[in-house]
Amino acid sequence: MNRISGKVVVITGASSGLGEATAIHLAAQGATMVVAARRKDRLDALVRKIVGDGGTALALQADVTKRQEVEAMIAQAVRQFGKIDVLVNNAGLMAIAPLSAVKVDEWERMIDINVKGVLYGIAATLPLFEKQQFGHYITISSIAGKKVFSPGGTVYSGTKFAVSAIAEGLRHEVGGKIRTTTIAPGLIDTELKQGSSHAESLQAVGELYQSQAISADAIARAIAYAIEQPSDVDVSEIVIRPTVQEF
Ligand code: NDP
Repeated sequence: MNRISGKVVVITGASSGLGEATAIHLAAQGATMVVAARRKDRLDALVRKIVGDGGTALALQADVTKRQEVEAMIAQAVRQFGKIDVLVNNAGLMAIAPLSAVKVDEWERMIDINVKGVLYGIAATLPLFEKQQFGHYITISSIAGKKVFSPGGTVYSGTKFAVSAIAEGLRHEVGGKIRTTTIAPGLIDTELKQGSSHAESLQAVGELYQSQAISADAIARAIAYAIEQPSDVDVSEIVIRPTVQEF
């Protein structure tokens, strides 16, 4: 039996992109998937696919910017399956625009989803992981969390630098029995590229992704690699970019 089979894995932002691809990949290897996001119809379709393929999955609607919804989602997953082995803090928004466009609402949304959403996930599970004496946090940062994606991605990069810092501090603090992995993807073909309301940036991002992006399966395989290691092996960080990506 592989080390993914039987694990209960919660993924936020599972209604599209990396989250959806990861849910399908892990379910095929025997993980019990709890898939969360706001678009319940998309989650229900994902669960139907996983169950149709012989897997196990539960869809839970949750907005990661609302702490009580994240807490309720985690509590429901534990009621249903008795434990959580892995939390993939994946939900995210990339609203690219130069600072001079002063899109303050989008700055706030990115901070709320990309940073506070990750913290709410940690808050909802850390007492559980400590009680269980096991658990694994997988945090989806970005190459934009290593280098400032400018112009246009300054605030997005700020959120991803923050998330990488939080994940590293988490690793250092929890130590012992709880594992932590930070994934830093490059250009991956998902809905993320459509997150900007700034026409010029939207077009530039679209062209960049069209010429360089790779499939979300690459990230799903990396997440599976981190989970399938023995419990004393912490895959702390994985950076994955398209071979042709310069940034
Ligand atoms: P998608 O836009 O395809 O997926 C984003 C997911 O986040 C959706 O399922 C969306 O679901 C969910 N989401 C957004 N806001 C909220 C919210 N408030 N509450 C709950 N869920 C929310 O993009 P990706 O799959 O590419 O993005 C996944 C992660 O990967 C993000 O953190 C992103 O920053 C990161 N990343 C992506 C890269 C790429 O090139 N694609 C590169 C580097 C990192 P719903 O709208 O239904 O709530």
